[in-house]
Amino acid sequence: MSAAVSLDRVSCIFGTGPQAVRAVDGVDLEIAAGEFFTLLGPSGSGKTTVLRMIGGFTLPTAGRILIDGQDVSLLPPYARPVNTVFQDYALFPHLSVRDNVAYPLMVQKTVRKMPRAQREAKADELLALVQLPGVGERRPAQLSGGQRQRVALARALISQPKLLLLDEPLGALDLKLREQMQSELKALQRRLGITFIFITHDQHEALSMSDRIGVFNQGRLEQVATPQQIYDTPATRFVAQFVGAANVLEGAVAQRLTGQAAAMLRPERITLGSPAQARAQGSVAEVQYFGSFTRLRVDLGDTQLQADLPAGCVAPDMGHQVHLHWDDGALHALRSP
Ligand code: ATP
Repeated sequence: MSAAVSLDRVSCIFGTGPQAVRAVDGVDLEIAAGEFFTLLGPSGSGKTTVLRMIGGFTLPTAGRILIDGQDVSLLPPYARPVNTVFQDYALFPHLSVRDNVAYPLMVQKTVRKMPRAQREAKADELLALVQLPGVGERRPAQLSGGQRQRVALARALISQPKLLLLDEPLGALDLKLREQMQSELKALQRRLGITFIFITHDQHEALSMSDRIGVFNQGRLEQVATPQQIYDTPATRFVAQFVGAANVLEGAVAQRLTGQAAAMLRPERITLGSPAQARAQGSVAEVQYFGSFTRLRVDLGDTQLQADLPAGCVAPDMGHQVHLHWDDGALHALRSP
């Protein structure tokens, strides 16, 4: 069976000459049908450009894009079996919520257009699906940010796409609403079985929602793996440091503390204990309280380590000497650059 989406050595260069920007650089990627796939990376790493090339809004400079095995590299957006939810939702302010949702059915290039009553019934069905019953008569301006986000989602789903592209759809929402929408979106995706390609630069969002994550850095894919693999066994230093907090140890310090040339140690894998069999000793240089944990910065002289104490532990005072412990299994060796 062919992948839902394949990228084959896809590059995108904006501009020419010395001003040229290599936004996407030789990306190979296969996304399976029904997968929730997240493009994660810092600002400017090429996520949006990849999504726009899959949607047909930007054409690749090199390489091929296949959807369900069909080469769509040069097809316009409307000719692709894809819908997009944009970051700003792009709702029509002068149309009612119901008409916004029904809009794709209205402009569909089918032989026989769906009658108005049927389109409206379908729109109401979608509004119920995204838990917004009874707001069809309102204008988008009369909704909250989270509600507008759901309307955009309903509109993107009404034509039953096999593939939905979502460009930071939760970016504009406050934290509480964002967390609620994360679980709703994930549940909806599971229920509908649609392939989702989702952009975020929020690592928590990526880890909690995705089946797999592709981590971008400077137009290249650094790693494609499950959230757990990305977090526990990052392929590169960049991934180790971009996803979650990490102590990355290199050179003589790494040799002394880990026996490796380079290794990653997550702060929550370090515990405080007695001097006996401690792996390291140092003084507390900083104490940061986060509610569910407390992060210490411990100065070892030749390096500093972050160590997270679980909630309920009494944090040592600044300047206090502490002894650090960790299991061998907490270390993840990093390849040399
Ligand atoms: P963000 O998280 O900030 O949206 P991103 O990872 O989505 O970032 P892109 O928008 O794909 O990044 O941009 C990748 C690079 O390409 C950036 O250096 C950007 O400035 C550049 N770029 C994007 N679109 C264009 C364009 N139309 N013309 C010129 N350069 C562009």
